[in-house]
Amino acid sequence: MIRTTFSRLAAALLVAAAPAAMAQDKVLNLYSARHYQTDEALYAEFTRQTGIRINRIEAGDEALLERLRNEGRNSPADVLLLVDAARLWKAQIEGLFQPVKSATLESRVPATLRGKDDGQGSEWFGVSVRARVIVYDKAGVDPALVQTYQDLARPELKGKVCTRSGAHPYMLSLIGAMSEHLGAAQAEQWAGGVVANFARKPRGGDTDQIRAVASGECGVALTNTYYLARLMNSTKPQDQEVVARVGMVWPNQKTWGTHVNVSGAGVARNAPNRDHAVRFIEFLVSDAGQRHFVDGNFEWPVVKSVKADKPELAALGQFKADPLPVASIGRAQVGASKIIDRVGWR
Ligand code: FE
Repeated sequence: MIRTTFSRLAAALLVAAAPAAMAQDKVLNLYSARHYQTDEALYAEFTRQTGIRINRIEAGDEALLERLRNEGRNSPADVLLLVDAARLWKAQIEGLFQPVKSATLESRVPATLRGKDDGQGSEWFGVSVRARVIVYDKAGVDPALVQTYQDLARPELKGKVCTRSGAHPYMLSLIGAMSEHLGAAQAEQWAGGVVANFARKPRGGDTDQIRAVASGECGVALTNTYYLARLMNSTKPQDQEVVARVGMVWPNQKTWGTHVNVSGAGVARNAPNRDHAVRFIEFLVSDAGQRHFVDGNFEWPVVKSVKADKPELAALGQFKADPLPVASIGRAQVGASKIIDRVGWR
């Protein structure tokens, strides 16, 4: 009798203790190469909605991949979040992701913004879209000269073109896309023409290119749209001055469209918290998750029904995006790498 009571009490205590223990267990280990401050709010929202705490490891794409390779089967990583199809594809073919069955992801992420290998099923999903555009010095360059990526190789632009290193994923993807459209030989000829037009040796990130155009050091440059939108949104007078001096072109509107890329995520091959991982990626493409990419970092949603209604994005205007599947852009980087070595785009 006493014993039964005790057992009941113990059982009751266990039940009472269970939520606390479970709450402790509700974690997600996120390996992220997104380097944007504003993502904090995104992660906080996920924890608020699900009670799942996020342990975040942030590092450069290459460092994260290296870490995953070294950790192998014992890796605590649940989700791998990377920027650019070039890196996502690399992780995919190395089998660092696993297959995911999710009706939500199937229906919300367009097929052209996903990647999957046929062998191991290593799979990732685009979660936000960015476009790579041309910026030019309004005082020194006629925008009619820079309506396409091909134009960057025109002889009239000798000594005027600036880009970051060709070895950066943003550039490898663009050069890969040029290869897909023009064929490898013509793409290499184009790349050589761009290098011949350099105003300076490639250096810095996208924002540095925009600033160098504003200062007159460069006549034209390439940047992802959100770097320009951030400067537009800045209240600093020196940023406003940069924005006033720089014009922007949506390249290739009369042909295949402006090069777009994604930031994307996949469930890590050996994820200990697989369910949380799927839930997290589903959250990234939920209406609330998508809004964070728009409001926080001026990226476009992958989900068509979500409106990109930020004034900065509206100011950039409508554009035709290159419909090339991002997975094929990722694959094309192998050829792009050879091209940049041969033409010296470093
Ligand atoms: Fe970036």
